[in-house]
Amino acid sequence: MIVRSTRACRFGSHRVLDPPGALAQAAWRLDATPVAYENEILCDVDALNIDSASFAQLRAECGDDVHAIGERILATVRERGKQHNPVTGSGGMFVGRVREVGTALRDSVALQAGDRIASLVSLTLTPLLLERVLGVDLATGHVQVRGTAVLFESGSWATLPTDLDDRVALAVFDVAGAPAQMRRLCRQGDTVVVIGADGKSGILSCVEAKRATGSSGRVIGVVPNAASPGARLVRDHGFVDVAIEADARDALQISQRVGAAAPGGADLVVNCVNVAGTEAGTILCAKDGGSIYFFSMATSFTAAALGAEGLGKDVTMIVGSGFAPNHAEIALETLRSHPAVLAHFTTTYGRKS
Ligand code: NAP
Repeated sequence: MIVRSTRACRFGSHRVLDPPGALAQAAWRLDATPVAYENEILCDVDALNIDSASFAQLRAECGDDVHAIGERILATVRERGKQHNPVTGSGGMFVGRVREVGTALRDSVALQAGDRIASLVSLTLTPLLLERVLGVDLATGHVQVRGTAVLFESGSWATLPTDLDDRVALAVFDVAGAPAQMRRLCRQGDTVVVIGADGKSGILSCVEAKRATGSSGRVIGVVPNAASPGARLVRDHGFVDVAIEADARDALQISQRVGAAAPGGADLVVNCVNVAGTEAGTILCAKDGGSIYFFSMATSFTAAALGAEGLGKDVTMIVGSGFAPNHAEIALETLRSHPAVLAHFTTTYGRKS
């Protein structure tokens, strides 16, 4: 065991190699040396959950070749000291076992060497060293690896629940910000549109939106394929009042179809897709004075800001931060309190025996 006897920056600036002055997320390159400072936590990593926008880009770039995707991930981590997709700018999270808790944190964090945890901060700011990629699951973006990662003092994590398959927990933790934000943003009686309603964050958002808007509210789910398992789940179990099949990249198509179900537009539109080019369609689904929560990491700030201006839409646009207080607990509660959702996540993201 090697622990550095210095207390370092709580935000991890001491690990930034390039450019000077940047914090870890904005940095091009981090020092991922697997030796913990006094206020860091060093982990052995066994799996990455690649962010969906990033994984969709990797699949497209590598033509669904799992070996090539693994090599791409190794190359990025070797070059940058973190899994920060240079095209999408997004990351994901890791699962691993605590190897060392720095001495300065031992009294303040409820963690010990050997605990299994999932990181709740992005891989785009997590120093990561990978020895090997052992497997890539094309369907879910779950990547088995052997490596190490460092959590800074400002970082957050969750111990893995014992009642859930690790992969299911990881899938839920990955998008935990979305259901937590729904509890904040939805009000009784609101009309809420969830775009990408059949994916991980979309399903959890529909469930929370339905609960928060109550019997006087309406939840409209937009999916690219109405026959997908996720689309059937939200429709058949009443997590949406209306399911609309539309391509969110086709701005006029989606706005017409949503407009037919919600004349004048929605109070809140939530974008949970994993593809680029959906900003204008999303903006057109909101009413004037409404709000948009761009959870998607494929969102372009420029396209959203200039698109709203060009469309003459007075809407409040919220950047989809992945963090909200107690977001991991809220997401797990959303899952556990809806058996059909738990069953869907277990089938879709759980370990295949
Ligand atoms: P996911 O499970 O892959 O779901 C994405 C959904 O988008 C799928 O249901 C997909 O439908 C749908 N979709 C794809 N193309 C579409 C189109 N043209 N029109 C309408 N829907 C379309 O992804 P996720 O894990 O929920 O993540 C969703 C987004 O949130 C991603 O961009 C991800 O990067 C981002 N994210 C953000 C944070 C944050 O902190 N803000 C954290 C994690 C993830 P099909 O499957 O049928 O194609």
